[in-house]
Amino acid sequence: MTLNLIDSHCHLQDEDFDGDREAVYDRTIKEGVGVIVPGYTMASSEKAVEFSVAHNHAWALVGIHPHDAQTRQSTDLDQLAAWVQSQPKVVGIGEIGLDYHYNNSPPEAQRVVFREQLALAKQLGVPASVHTREAEEDTLAIIREVGHHRGVIHCFTGTAEFAQAVLALGWHISFSGAITFKSAHALRQVVETVPLDRILIETDSPYLSPVPWRGQRNEPLRVIRVAEVVAAQKNCLTKQVFDVTLSNTYSLFFVSP
Ligand SMILES: [Zn+2]
Repeated sequence: MTLNLIDSHCHLQDEDFDGDREAVYDRTIKEGVGVIVPGYTMASSEKAVEFSVAHNHAWALVGIHPHDAQTRQSTDLDQLAAWVQSQPKVVGIGEIGLDYHYNNSPPEAQRVVFREQLALAKQLGVPASVHTREAEEDTLAIIREVGHHRGVIHCFTGTAEFAQAVLALGWHISFSGAITFKSAHALRQVVETVPLDRILIETDSPYLSPVPWRGQRNEPLRVIRVAEVVAAQKNCLTKQVFDVTLSNTYSLFFVSP
């Protein structure tokens, strides 16, 4: 089967899908939508790996989210590397990054764990999927310091200036259902400033359900709504957003440089 589209970031391994995971996956695939499932802890990374191995049109990322940076054990990096090297369906490191909004882990621990996982991605020659919230300067500084030029800022909600800085590093930008929110005028204008050939789209399921499903559990099929809003901002056909973002996702995650 040929895919029409990929939801480049959805947590199908999350316990929110424990009751109907296979049904959700089946209806997603039926519409030609594939999924990339990122980990956020070691346990959820392992679940993402298992899910990707068991499903043709699913791929996994492995990594420790900034919220859980302080849980990182000394053997974790070796395990992340082992997954990337032994499992062809594991296509990158993520989600990693910095979150100074919640500071669930101390900022210093977040920086250490982000830096070492980004360096691991570079060393392994795979892309990174990065979460950043109220930490744009430090995120850019660490990406520059590590010098890794393959990655995506997932669920982008930043400014046009931040988007330009990300693009200048050779990175991609992924938009989520956040661009459909009524209050997100400024973010929709940012969409206009990012070239289509650098855009990925995602749901971040089970979070961030787009309008008109706000507040409900999100699911990968709703990535179609994100594509529609990107198309509206870009004044192009939704089909073109499908095609270009699919090709961007393939070249970022599936093609070795
Ligand atoms: Zn996520």
